[in-house]
Amino acid sequence: MKTYDWLVVGSGLAGSALGYELARAGYRVLMLEQSATASSPTTHNATQCSYGGIAYWSGTTPLMRQLCQEGLELHRTLSAELDGDTEYREVDLLLTIDPDRDPQAVASAYSKMDVVPTLVDSVIACELEPLLNPDAIAAALVVKHGHVSPETIVRAYQQAFLRLGGEICYEQVTGFWQSEADLSRYQGVQTETSHYVGENVVVCAGGLSRSLFRKAGLAVRLYATIAELIELPPGEVRLQSLVMPAELKRFELEAAAGAVDSLWNEPDQEITPAILDAGIVQFRDGRIRFGQISRVLSNPLTPTEALGGEQAMRSAIGRLMPALKDQPGQWRSCPVAFSCDRLPLVGAVPDRAGIHVFSGFGNPFAILPPLARRFAYHAAGQPDPLLLQLSPARF
Ligand SMILES: Cc1cc2nc3c(=O)[nH]c(=O)nc-3n(C[C@H](O)[C@H](O)[C@H](O)COP(=O)(O)OP(=O)(O)OC[C@H]3O[C@@H](n4cnc5c(N)ncnc54)[C@H](O)[C@@H]3O)c2cc1C
Repeated sequence: MKTYDWLVVGSGLAGSALGYELARAGYRVLMLEQSATASSPTTHNATQCSYGGIAYWSGTTPLMRQLCQEGLELHRTLSAELDGDTEYREVDLLLTIDPDRDPQAVASAYSKMDVVPTLVDSVIACELEPLLNPDAIAAALVVKHGHVSPETIVRAYQQAFLRLGGEICYEQVTGFWQSEADLSRYQGVQTETSHYVGENVVVCAGGLSRSLFRKAGLAVRLYATIAELIELPPGEVRLQSLVMPAELKRFELEAAAGAVDSLWNEPDQEITPAILDAGIVQFRDGRIRFGQISRVLSNPLTPTEALGGEQAMRSAIGRLMPALKDQPGQWRSCPVAFSCDRLPLVGAVPDRAGIHVFSGFGNPFAILPPLARRFAYHAAGQPDPLLLQLSPARF
């Protein structure tokens, strides 16, 4: 059987970027992905549901500032490097402030960020984005935001990976694999029908990573929300800006939900109540995504289609941007990984030689590409002290 240096589990943004970087570093890499298509609402991964926003301006710590800066520089040259268009652009992001909130107080939460957004009143906000309802906002913060198409960046990474000799196999990984001749360590992964041998395994399975580790008895502090959104096909509506709420509820939700690890081992628990952050993005090809509901259920595969999310999202978006309320579109849902300190888990799983994790990113489109590069350099023998701060052993 062919053996690999690295087996990468998952081919969303994390697996695709990391697979590419490992292949670029000269390794023999096999990427394993359970889903060959994105044809039904239940088969989308988080990358295929994403807005693709790159908040390179939002770093508040030296670590995040450095990674955001590296991410910005990488995105600006990535299409040329991969020889595939990621649709990278820099565009106005409007962070909307609700009518009952004090704009100055909301703005002060942004004062420590690397680039401080500008506070504008509702009239200027509506000049920047004429589809906004002026009565639905008190004001907005404006900042230049990076943006890519999540699908095209992943495609560009995967095509560059294949050109470097990387291989992709569409099978579900059901566990880690050990040879009976050596039970001291894992030597690969198991699928329904086969096993694959590799010196190292890295789990990039997004919101499903925790369950894969748990099956092997490994406690890795990763969690998942179940996100819901609506995608509209290209049509008449044209947005000038990206729109997100200035006060995202998702971050508070994740902090609360990640506080008690043991709850996540209970079957079918609602860990915290659902939230809705009203955001809207349009891609270069005219598609629009808006949402998003985040639910926190211990089983990230719980079906949520019948819970009324579509109606709630349409009402919230309809208040903010009436032109979108009744546009026909497709409801989508996916698990999204997070950690309890908003930093990803990057590196070797403690006490298990050869098993690694690369997941749980809070700001992935900004910091994941440079971290994938650092991971590969580190693996190739250039020790990287920055990665220590993201090690799964930090908890
Ligand atoms: C509505 C929405 C908007 C967002 N907007 C932004 C944004 O603007 N900016 C930003 O930075 N982030 C955003 N995010 C978050 C971002 O999209 C995700 O964090 C990121 O895409 C996660 O990538 P991933 O590769 O880790 O996970 P995923 O994309 O979920 O990929 C994991 C892959 O692993 C595969 N897999 C799982 N288990 C197995 C297994 N056992 N065997 C084989 N394969 C397996 C899955 O099929 C999947 O393809 C948004 C998310 C949502 C839902």
